[in-house]
Amino acid sequence: MTVQHFDIAILGGGNAGMTLAAKISSKTKDKKIVVFEPQKANTKSATWSLWATKSEISTLNPFLKGQWQKWKIVTHNSEIIHESTEHNYIAIDSSKYLRSYERSLDKEVTLLPYHAELCSESDETIISADNKIFKSNLTFDSRPPELMRDGLKQHFIGWEIETEQDLEDIDTVTLMDFTVDQSKGIHFIYALPLSKNTILVESTMLSNHVEKDVWYESSIKEWLDVRDISIKKHLRTERGIIPMHKTKQRFSKVINIGVRGGAVRLSSGYSFSIIERQITALCEELELSDYNMPKKQLSYPLMFLDRVFNSVISEFPNKASEIFIKHASSMQGDEYAKFMRGSQNLILWLKVMLALPKFIFLKSLARVVLRNDHT
Ligand SMILES: Cc1cc2nc3c(=O)[nH]c(=O)nc-3n(C[C@H](O)[C@H](O)[C@H](O)COP(=O)(O)OP(=O)(O)OC[C@H]3O[C@@H](n4cnc5c(N)ncnc54)[C@H](O)[C@@H]3O)c2cc1C
Repeated sequence: MTVQHFDIAILGGGNAGMTLAAKISSKTKDKKIVVFEPQKANTKSATWSLWATKSEISTLNPFLKGQWQKWKIVTHNSEIIHESTEHNYIAIDSSKYLRSYERSLDKEVTLLPYHAELCSESDETIISADNKIFKSNLTFDSRPPELMRDGLKQHFIGWEIETEQDLEDIDTVTLMDFTVDQSKGIHFIYALPLSKNTILVESTMLSNHVEKDVWYESSIKEWLDVRDISIKKHLRTERGIIPMHKTKQRFSKVINIGVRGGAVRLSSGYSFSIIERQITALCEELELSDYNMPKKQLSYPLMFLDRVFNSVISEFPNKASEIFIKHASSMQGDEYAKFMRGSQNLILWLKVMLALPKFIFLKSLARVVLRNDHT
């Protein structure tokens, strides 16, 4: 069997993998790089949203699907609307974003449409793909991490639809609307009004167990019905399962990146801005030839506090909507945006913690510390 050698191998050409490949290839012309990605960029139809600064918005402008200054969280008995000046909530087209990175790759980068598996590691990593063997000096892994069966997950199905009627308010994103069925766990609708007649509506759950498609779909229909919004055309569906628990490292020399490498807010599932920071930091380390694991982009105290937050909502799912409202109410719009981007400081986290129900937080804090809880 012939063995192909590369300087750098990247498993998974999603957000983290393609960003890394493009950044490395723009800086080094003498490295042979391979990216294994079984799916074509134009079939990866997802809407990635984030709170972006003005300069990030101008960089991401070619991929923008929408941008908003206002967002809201709704429960049966309360509503909070945030407005921000420094950050906008933006949505980008993942497929356009990935295709643009793909086009920017240097000819030294080989993009292979295969599922890849890590076989072993010594001085080099051995990778198998398409019944062939590949060896690389330096390997990055961004494949989706293994989900823990009993770990907290964010799981959702979203429909992008064209509506019969004009939408009432297209200036405000619905981040979480908890006025939907809560019988199977924490459940909310996320709605992005993309134009007067286009909206992305997602039924999202925070729980350990993924439901059948019909559960999410009937929740979307019900939410639309209550608002008298009829579907003129179903444009596309997106779905996802994002781990909200720690992920495992099986190969010590392989560098995990993206969600697999912990670049996700465990308490919110948002990862875009954190991945960008992770890959930028990693490229700086590579320039210094310091091939180390990327430093965590979220500090350990903040990751710990996120785990406490998750432990609270796992143990008290019936209190989740109240907690999310209190959590948002404790901050101004721009503070909330920073918090969700993972760029808040410890003082802001403490301010948030103080606004939340003390007893259940202290109980969960003890639980996380004593049982090394992985929720
Ligand atoms: C539908 C959807 C919507 C989302 N929306 C948001 C959002 O609004 N905001 C946000 O911050 N985050 C969002 N996320 C989270 C999302 O996971 C990240 O933003 C981002 O895609 C993570 O980048 P990544 O590189 O870690 O993983 P991915 O982008 O998922 O990349 C992993 C890649 O590995 C590939 N792969 C799988 N198996 C193999 C294999 N055996 N060999 C080689 N390659 C393999 C996959 O095809 C995939 O392209 C969303 C996720 C989904 C699924």
